[in-house]
Amino acid sequence: MPDRIQLLPDHVANQIAAGEVVQRPASVVKELLENAIDAGAENIQLIIKDGGKTLIQVVDDGMGMSVTDARLSFERHATSKIRNADDLFQLSTKGFRGEALASIAAIAHVEMKTRPGTDELGTLLCIQGSRVTEQEVITTPVGTSVAVKNLFFNIPARRNFLKSKQVELRHITDEFHRVALAHPGIGFQYFHDGNELYNLPGTNHRQRIVHLFGGKTNEKLVPVSEETQVVEISGFICKPEFAKKSRGEQFFFVNDRFIKSPYLHHAVSAAFEGLIRSDVHPGYFLYLKVDPGSIDINIHPTKTEIKFDDEQTLYAILRSSVKHSLGQFNIAPVLDFERDQNLDTPYDYKEKGAQLPRVTVDAGFNPFREDSSRKSASTRFSSKPESSWESMYVGLDSQVGNENTFSSLTVESDSYTSSIFDADGEKEQRGSSFQLRRKYIVTTIKSGMLVIDQSRAHQRVLYEKFLKSITVKNAVSQQLLFPMVLHFSPPEMQMIREIQESLVAIGFAFGEMEEEQLQVTGVPLMVSSSEVGMVLDHLISDYQSEQEGESFSQTDVLSKTLCKSLAVKSGEVLDTESQMALVDDLFACKEPSLSPFGKKTYVTLTESDIDKKFI
Ligand code: ADP
Ligand code: MG
Repeated sequence: MPDRIQLLPDHVANQIAAGEVVQRPASVVKELLENAIDAGAENIQLIIKDGGKTLIQVVDDGMGMSVTDARLSFERHATSKIRNADDLFQLSTKGFRGEALASIAAIAHVEMKTRPGTDELGTLLCIQGSRVTEQEVITTPVGTSVAVKNLFFNIPARRNFLKSKQVELRHITDEFHRVALAHPGIGFQYFHDGNELYNLPGTNHRQRIVHLFGGKTNEKLVPVSEETQVVEISGFICKPEFAKKSRGEQFFFVNDRFIKSPYLHHAVSAAFEGLIRSDVHPGYFLYLKVDPGSIDINIHPTKTEIKFDDEQTLYAILRSSVKHSLGQFNIAPVLDFERDQNLDTPYDYKEKGAQLPRVTVDAGFNPFREDSSRKSASTRFSSKPESSWESMYVGLDSQVGNENTFSSLTVESDSYTSSIFDADGEKEQRGSSFQLRRKYIVTTIKSGMLVIDQSRAHQRVLYEKFLKSITVKNAVSQQLLFPMVLHFSPPEMQMIREIQESLVAIGFAFGEMEEEQLQVTGVPLMVSSSEVGMVLDHLISDYQSEQEGESFSQTDVLSKTLCKSLAVKSGEVLDTESQMALVDDLFACKEPSLSPFGKKTYVTLTESDIDKKFI
């Protein structure tokens, strides 16, 4: 038999490997920014066109490369950052695999200009699909510029799978945020299609966070700092009252590298326990410094996970230092107003003294988020205050009287209720439905009984209403007497602008939109003004997570979010009138049997089902 195995040509091997490293434009951005940082740059420019599909360029003022290095940098496993396997355990650079440039050059048109400080002239190199097409001596500033054009030009399948320009841009911006937060000392400029999105001067951590997420962020931040033998923690957590539905502002950095760690995230959440509602998330920007020998980042080129030697200890330290900071902020000032604040807290936290009297009154910022979970979202369903626990049997009592429907149940239930609750014969006037465990609405139908999940049913009703008003654009808006001003971070404002048209279609009206704030002048009829902040917060959060999803339709996401935030919840008491109205509305829907999220809205129990139980 002839030999069948052959080595793949380099450019094919590179293309295959590239699939690992480069998943989308944001991956290229990450690699190029990290190379610039490793080269010791003080200023970095990121230039993007068309969501990175046409151009991704990073210009740095770092150490540059000699001609030979420039050529070698595009070879696979060519790196200046490690020399042997031991170096892997003492990494102080971002890169070390020496694969990024080789991979990028395999699937794009790359143009590199570079000059080291020691040379008068620099080098221009053009590479297309791993082949060098041009090499010249040029005049160019000290440092390196790498321009990546037409990503995936030779892999149409990958190119076609890229998402819309906005979605790709958002991934790039996320990557930019991470790198910029990890290196506040470096100045960054970021352009998209000729517009300057960010111009960040080199500064400290706090200022960098504020520059990225808006001036309002400053007052949200509480410093965290802890030094132990295992780890050094610094950074900030956001005050509990600013916890959000979205997970946007959660950042861990280990040795200046952004990482994701559900485990450490849990440690922070645990410290916040009892201070925030369970459906919102704390914001944090935490920087951990550990011995490079105690972590393993060598898991996967594109993964942001890392392995710690002693995760449990880290967990405990993190949790307690976050708790400590929360305590400093929450409790210390309240205990003693007379004392000098600077003695109470180790932080030179200027605004703290001035803000003190407002701590208790601070509810002004976001009262709507605070009570959103308890408040009934609908204007038509009135919630009653919690009634006594027997109330859930009241309906049952009248149900029992309805003899022709449930003859088999009558005797037993009747004696049951009267013997235990001493029913005084109180009947409901419209007793054809009742609420079970503040969760289900039970009503009778010809063939037996119907048990409706109140929350899902209401979601369905609202969902169809919103869908209709967005498509037909006939929504009624209620004008607010006093326009509300809401604060958002620039990335959040960007998102609101993207869905603005649909928001207007369902009845929102906006006044001035600035970089970090929004004036709301009108709200949909179904939304009360106190819920506006909460609803927009949910929308941003869902819209953010939905960008990953395949079937991404703005109308659908919007309607789903709104119905989820506004529908009655389990646990809310509904009066009989609201119950009946909900049942009627549900069955007027196009798809009454399923919630917008594909869950059953009701089940039926026929007389024969019940009969069977008595056999
Ligand atoms: P790695 O970063 O893992 O070493 P890369 O493929 O990203 O691998 O880069 C290969 C080499 O090219 C780097 O080790 C570095 O020496 C050089 N290099 C890449 N980008 C730059 C840059 N912007 N400035 C200076 N040198 C660079
Ligand atoms: Mg690299």
